[in-house]
Amino acid sequence: QTYAAAEDRYQQVAYRRTGNSGLDLPAFSFGLWQKFGTDHPFDTQREIVLRAFDLGITHFDNADRYGPPHRAAQQFFGKVLKRDLAPYRDELILSTKAGNPIGPSPYLRGGSRKSLLTSLEHSLRDLGTDRVDIFYSHSPDLSTPLEETVGALVSAVQQGKALYVGISNYPTERAQEVVALLRQAGVPLLLHQPRYSIFDRRPEQNGLLKLAAEEGFGLVVYSPLAQGLLTDKYLTGIPEGARASNSAFLKPDVIDDTYRQRAAALNRIAEERGQSLAQLALQWVLRQPQVTSALLGASSTWQLEHNIRALDFPPLTEQELALIDEHGVH
Ligand code: NDP
Repeated sequence: QTYAAAEDRYQQVAYRRTGNSGLDLPAFSFGLWQKFGTDHPFDTQREIVLRAFDLGITHFDNADRYGPPHRAAQQFFGKVLKRDLAPYRDELILSTKAGNPIGPSPYLRGGSRKSLLTSLEHSLRDLGTDRVDIFYSHSPDLSTPLEETVGALVSAVQQGKALYVGISNYPTERAQEVVALLRQAGVPLLLHQPRYSIFDRRPEQNGLLKLAAEEGFGLVVYSPLAQGLLTDKYLTGIPEGARASNSAFLKPDVIDDTYRQRAAALNRIAEERGQSLAQLALQWVLRQPQVTSALLGASSTWQLEHNIRALDFPPLTEQELALIDEHGVH
């Protein structure tokens, strides 16, 4: 069946300016980390990605590593791009990341020029596109000179294989060095991609939010729902098929009494506001002006449709923020 994008797709979500750049990103971006490997049905995956685009989510976040197996999520996206989204390629922001290990070879890991640019070639081939919109160094590599890693990002732009560059998981001080090196090269840092949620406040504590404001880069934050822990799904057990039941990255033993009490208290705050805990948690990360976009994962179209309504509610009050702090901080 031929896909035609929803005509009202640009009336669904807000678009926010990324730092001091000229690029707008949707308040919600879509990530293909989990459930987009070969272990889940193509038709469901395709339905979710196309629904995301119909909802105005123009930004799709990928990495060479996502699967299983590694590279599978990008190969999947490449198929959907070819089959359905090709007429809309200019309306998409495709991002990919390199540097986390994807194989035993020393050239398929780390921040060397060889590793990053080889990975980028693989990603372009897998996605079936000549360039990505954003190319990230996935994690800092302390064993490689920062000049080499940053130089590889700059080369990707100079070679026309990426429009913008980003970094992910970099400590604030190292991020500051990246900003300076990139600026010297005339390729400004577009984005940092950290983990940020009611349960993980490091970007507030380690100065990253402040640095983003000072240096004019944006933040695209990952796991804003703490992989599903900041929803109501685990309040009474672990539903079949939920991430805590089948992922190496979310073990069922985190769903203990302490967790349940915290989640129940946060859920009550959300209920008082007439929204769900998921919507509260997303609104909470997006209250920061430096946060350009919250990266959503989803295993159903319902989750996406529900989550993107998070910004339809009144802003969080000081009192509500204080209550969230009381229950959200360990
Ligand atoms: P979230 O914290 O948003 O978790 C998403 C998961 O929560 C969904 O897949 C779903 O899991 C569950 N969920 C979502 N909405 C609801 C709802 N309304 N009710 C109940 N359950 C819900 O984000 P992710 O951890 O998935 O990360 C998002 C993206 O961030 C990734 O895809 C990736 O692109 C990026 N990322 C980047 C990293 C990096 O190192 N740079 C690291 C990790 C992620 P289910 O239904 O399966 O239980």
